[in-house]
Amino acid sequence: MKNAALLCLLLQLCQLPAAAARLNVIFLDICSTRADHFGTYGYKRDTTPNMDAFGKKAAVFENAMSEGSWCLPSYASLLTGHVPEVHGLYNNLPARGLPAFETTLAEQLKRSGYKTALFSGGVYLMPAWGLAKGFDTYTNIFSTASPARVPAPFEDNFEAVLDWVRKNKDGGDPFFLFATIDDLHTPYHSPDPKKYDPDYDGIAQDPDVLGVPFSRAYNGQESGYPPELKKKVEEFKSDPRHLNHLVARYDAALNSVDAQVGKFLEKMREMGMEDNTVLIISADHGELLGEQGLLNHTQGLYEPVLRVPLMVRHPAVPGSAGARLKQLVQRIDLMPSILEIAGASQLGLGLQGRSFVPLLKDPSAPWREYAFARSSRNVPFLTGTVPLIDERVARDACWKLHHYLYKDSWELYDLCSDPLETRDLYAEKPEIAARLAFQLLKNMEESRPHQPGPPPGMSGFRLKGTDADKY
Ligand SMILES: [Zn+2]
Repeated sequence: MKNAALLCLLLQLCQLPAAAARLNVIFLDICSTRADHFGTYGYKRDTTPNMDAFGKKAAVFENAMSEGSWCLPSYASLLTGHVPEVHGLYNNLPARGLPAFETTLAEQLKRSGYKTALFSGGVYLMPAWGLAKGFDTYTNIFSTASPARVPAPFEDNFEAVLDWVRKNKDGGDPFFLFATIDDLHTPYHSPDPKKYDPDYDGIAQDPDVLGVPFSRAYNGQESGYPPELKKKVEEFKSDPRHLNHLVARYDAALNSVDAQVGKFLEKMREMGMEDNTVLIISADHGELLGEQGLLNHTQGLYEPVLRVPLMVRHPAVPGSAGARLKQLVQRIDLMPSILEIAGASQLGLGLQGRSFVPLLKDPSAPWREYAFARSSRNVPFLTGTVPLIDERVARDACWKLHHYLYKDSWELYDLCSDPLETRDLYAEKPEIAARLAFQLLKNMEESRPHQPGPPPGMSGFRLKGTDADKY
């Protein structure tokens, strides 16, 4: 009898929260979305009316940061809770997949009784990149999309996503649905690209100008594009109306994404999902639109690329609706947060971020002082002159330090008075630069790879003047 009572007690202790109380989690991740082009974050154009309305019912993080400047490392950091140096998916050579020691967010949720699904139209979530672990349903339509329309638009996944929700919403088990929206990636597709600049007729409409190779040429890279693009760059730079139109085109694509998100949120309401589902809207990274002489998101860890929207609607924490949170939240914080929302264990995962759920309950809860990001890419066509793009930043509430390891240079900005980083104060503020440099070096040491040798994809790839290929 005693044993039976003990067993009963143990079972109660081990029991997971009742299924009815466990919340679904839907995560919409919009590729290439910079926060400052949302009305919620103070933009001048009415680009995002639906997501702004959602933001009034959600907690809005004002200083959410990507882990780096582009898709793959940010997806992998979301799905592993580790920085790119640890999960290893941060170069764009052929992927080897995740290291065996990684447990993904989807795996951990599945162990805890969640149904899991991913829908995407982006290249870096194709199964070859190794992030499918733990998803019951994994749908990526990139490879079947029309070559004239990649990344694949969300509307091509829309009905499949809704069908999946319909089939899984009443099954007893909660679910985790991760869907990327890839429409805002260059070339900024939308049904009405001239919406905000209807009278324009010029080179910014040229398909070449809207491609990634053009942005490499525009950014001053010496290779990775046809030489004739240099002439188009000269023409593009000769008149500010061309860049203005590119920005307007980006905004039109964001407005189109907003309409789709609005439609999706309406469907969720119709299905009665509002009270049992945590809905998160964020982005893997932002986009440079001419700031610091850069386009796209291939390099540069400036705010347009790093500062992403993050809005979290949590029906079980109604007091968080409408909250504006200024804490420095990173992409690695999403996995511990979602696991906490789900009541799933984080034990043994060695997660490097921290759950922001306590901030939803109490905005004055303790939080970190510094945040970090990096962009480390091994780009074969750049090896002639720039063997490795390796950039790091450390920031606190106001100050942000950039370190370009591959060219040994530094920049320092006061984001509180200069949010677009136009005045480099590195030479004028050596004490602040030294404080942030110490934090950056400490973070680099804490983040160094668990795996010996060069990152995945590097073997046989010789860095100029190093012995890297021997290890
Ligand atoms: Zn992306």
